[in-house]
Amino acid sequence: MNMNLGEEYVKLGFRINKHVTGFVDAFFGPPEIKTSIEKEEPESLEKLRASAEKLLEYAESSSCDNPNRLFLSKQIKAMQLIIRQEMGEKIPFEEYVRSTLDIEPIQNYDEIIDLEQDSIGHLLDIGKYGKGKSIADRLNNFNQAEAISDKEIGQVIENAVIDCRNRALKIVSIPTGEHVEFKFVSNAPWGEAYNWYLGNYQSKVEINVDFPRTKYDLYGLVTHEAYPGHHTELSNKEKMYRETGMVEYTVVLLNTPMNVVSEGLADVAYDIIFGDQIPVDWQLSRALVRLRAACLSKGALLKHVNQKSDESVKKYLIDNAFFSDSKATAYVEFINYPLFRGYVMTYFAGQKHMRDYLFNMRQDNDVTSLLNRLMNQLNAPSML
Ligand SMILES: [Zn+2]
Repeated sequence: MNMNLGEEYVKLGFRINKHVTGFVDAFFGPPEIKTSIEKEEPESLEKLRASAEKLLEYAESSSCDNPNRLFLSKQIKAMQLIIRQEMGEKIPFEEYVRSTLDIEPIQNYDEIIDLEQDSIGHLLDIGKYGKGKSIADRLNNFNQAEAISDKEIGQVIENAVIDCRNRALKIVSIPTGEHVEFKFVSNAPWGEAYNWYLGNYQSKVEINVDFPRTKYDLYGLVTHEAYPGHHTELSNKEKMYRETGMVEYTVVLLNTPMNVVSEGLADVAYDIIFGDQIPVDWQLSRALVRLRAACLSKGALLKHVNQKSDESVKKYLIDNAFFSDSKATAYVEFINYPLFRGYVMTYFAGQKHMRDYLFNMRQDNDVTSLLNRLMNQLNAPSML
């Protein structure tokens, strides 16, 4: 048996996308692959299940010489589970997360949440935002004192882009001709911001302006979505495709192991370029990113494993992640939204994998070479 594993994998992704709209989150490979599948009648789920099985068998066989076959077999396993779910099989949430994302959903969330809450309380004390008051009240004071008006937001983003891009360029290569366009939107199902990678080294980043923002949040978004986060990663993947012709580099599939690596990389992107010797207010914003990722994973488990009501998950997020009422409502929607109910688990797990990989276990390797390797390789969490 001989087949082009990468191409068959991308085609399977598009065929699944006909049943699960949004499954192909980005594609920047040869347009004829996409159009050939668009022209087909949708394949039945039974047939897709059989093709996925055949593809996995090939990826795991000795006749397959694709260097990305380990990554691809993990991706195909996720696709198999998504097909099974689409066929009506009831898959417990924990199994769904393990099989689609290649991570362990049960973690010591409470311990980490306590730790980050303590450190946030301590940082707020140093920052003098009303010592003695509750963390929620002091954060509220902080957010009000630092709020950026709608008029200023464009300028703050522009400055952040220049600063973060320059810093990123010192440690990671970014293809020439790349560009990110920022757009402001309202009422989005994906929370705070989203990167639509358009191909040809271009991204459109949408920022949800329904929530008040500080410059700390905006820098967090720019590093996560653009430099050196999603946009930087995907433009390097596209460059790899152009250099090698391997089409598996050109597709992003939602709820698959690759998302954990990407979200982890994006969530530590700020830490990579600014380091940890940063002023108190910036430390506070980083602690919030870590705290909230843990709370979102815990919130998803409360909802999908413990069957808690939306109201009680919302209360949990307000009390523990210190979200405002409106933000907590948006995140409960995110946790419930069919395409993102498992995806919400990627942030905490991704951060953990990425910190271990880049900072804690690096031995002889420096961050720069590890980072460039990550940008140019296809990895699932268990491969790091
Ligand atoms: Zn992201």
